[in-house]
Amino acid sequence: MNEYKTIEDLGNLSGKVAMLRADLNVPMDENFHVTNTARIDRTVPTIKELMSKGAKVVVISHFGRPEGKGDMKNSLSHVAPELEKALGHKVVFVEDCIGEKVENAIKSMKADEVLLLENLRFYDEEKKGDENFAKELTKAVDVYVSDAFSTAHRAHASMVAAVKTKPAAFGRLMEEEVNALTKGLNNPERPLIAIVGGSKVSTKLDLLNNLVKKVDKLVISGGMAHTFMKASGIDTINEANSLVQMDMLDTAKEIMATAKANNCEIVLPVDVVVSKEFKPMAEHKTVDLEHIPAEGWSLLDVGEKTIAVINSKLDEAKTLVWNGPLGVFEMKPFDNATNKVAQHAAELTQEGKLTSVAGGGDTVSALANAGVEDKFTYISTAGGAFLEWMEGKELPGVVVLKK
Ligand code: AMP
Repeated sequence: MNEYKTIEDLGNLSGKVAMLRADLNVPMDENFHVTNTARIDRTVPTIKELMSKGAKVVVISHFGRPEGKGDMKNSLSHVAPELEKALGHKVVFVEDCIGEKVENAIKSMKADEVLLLENLRFYDEEKKGDENFAKELTKAVDVYVSDAFSTAHRAHASMVAAVKTKPAAFGRLMEEEVNALTKGLNNPERPLIAIVGGSKVSTKLDLLNNLVKKVDKLVISGGMAHTFMKASGIDTINEANSLVQMDMLDTAKEIMATAKANNCEIVLPVDVVVSKEFKPMAEHKTVDLEHIPAEGWSLLDVGEKTIAVINSKLDEAKTLVWNGPLGVFEMKPFDNATNKVAQHAAELTQEGKLTSVAGGGDTVSALANAGVEDKFTYISTAGGAFLEWMEGKELPGVVVLKK
């Protein structure tokens, strides 16, 4: 990681006050109990490392979509007990993120304590990227550590302007994400294969256009494959039995032409699973493309022949990037293809034959459902930031820490 500033670049941290921009935007139930602590747990190593280097740590984050200051249902105070539990150190909550209260709390911090400040988005200036707000935020600290990769696609004050006010660096989570994505897409070992699934082509145009220029093979599956199949002449596909987007046929053809011009092989389904109803365990059958029923059945997954094709392409690859499920993974048995391909990719990864990087929205739950969440090289928990990286866009929160 020579390209970006890391904790090593901050020098001696003993006695310094370090502000850590984390992502503590965790899911919560109606009683304000955290229902999934993954984001908290992933912040803990950076906090502990900063503390072990002698720094006093002040944690900041956004939370939810508050309607201005004092919107208590979006207060980070609800997260403080969970952070304390995960960290094993006392967490002192401060009811603001700028101003005198914060400055006093920092002055009276004890060595073994961590401060957690109130939701950054209580101030509109955060989303506006306001420089004065950023200066206020970091006024009483010595160094700034940016660890919220999931917000790195937004030029918010805490992601960009604040970074410029003090000596700053990536936290370990941000470093890990950027390393993994660089290895996956910017500097991959080839052949590089991408799997893109999900429901609609229209939401993933930028992604597809970028990938066909970078990857050696592009597997298109899920509902979005229907448009590509129709565009490549599979006449049995129609609006009654699939998610084909008729207004996207020309776009799909253009993407396929760009792929050809860039020597990118597009891999489409060769058989599909059709179902009588959109519900778990509905009556279903696997059919070749020419036997897709014109109506009364919907395409909910890809079949065993397609799974075998994708898996053989994985055998030839050195790097995989994956976004989007291959079928309706939320309902059995239509999670079959996603599970089998994920398990094969996991095996190749475990055998040291494949670098596998996945992320973005539903992909994390689809891979967890397949039981492979610990068996890929890296699964990013960042939704939007991961997708924008796959789209080839520069992320402001990452670029700002280039050396
Ligand atoms: P996305 O958010 O675009 O990645 O889409 C994820 C969603 O696509 C999941 O909820 C899947 O159930 C859905 N999906 C995948 N394949 C299909 C399909 N063949 N028909 C309908 N929905 C699908």
